[in-house]
Amino acid sequence: MARYTGPVCKLCRREGQKLYLKGTRCYTPKCALERRDYPPGEHGITARFRRQRPSDYALQLREKQKVRRIYGVLERQFRRYFREAERMPGLTGENLLILLERRLDNVVYRLGFADSRAQARQLVQHGHFTVNGRRVTIPSMLVRPNDVIAVREGSRKRTYFKERAQVLDAQKVPEWLQLDPENLSARVLAMPRREDIDIPINEQLVVEFYSR
Ligand code: SF4
Repeated sequence: MARYTGPVCKLCRREGQKLYLKGTRCYTPKCALERRDYPPGEHGITARFRRQRPSDYALQLREKQKVRRIYGVLERQFRRYFREAERMPGLTGENLLILLERRLDNVVYRLGFADSRAQARQLVQHGHFTVNGRRVTIPSMLVRPNDVIAVREGSRKRTYFKERAQVLDAQKVPEWLQLDPENLSARVLAMPRREDIDIPINEQLVVEFYSR
């Protein structure tokens, strides 16, 4: 599946908000948003001083882009998630976030095996994880309750995972996941709920965007 390969800090500056796309760098003064807190591009710095009230459409579009960029999903796939969320019982906006949250790359990130979703995606694609004992290389795979996600036996000897194992004890994982740091594995306890998803998003605006 295709993915965005351009400069990611630009995306945060576009949204005027930290999207935490670069792992540990996002928590340091090197963060681009801290150094250049205005939109990218030639007119970005002047745009900061324009005090126009954004239209409803602009607010909806920005919110949709934010969610898409946080989870690293391109438009076509995101639209597919939205259609699926519409078909599910319950609130479409919440369903959408829950679907995105269940992606394997997001779960690997939430468990602390990677510093960012992009890194998690790469680790999954390189075959370092198993789900229920089977090697999986598809970052968009959706996990279900009782699934067991683990670092593959052959990958455990790698320096990267040995170092990760040292810091996993301190990792705070969402309630719907249970991490076993010693065995470099985790179990999905339940489906995520909206309150488990801590990203500052108004999903209703995304629903309004696609319902125009
Ligand atoms: Fe966004 Fe992280 Fe880049 Fe800061 S360092 S602009 S939070 S991706």
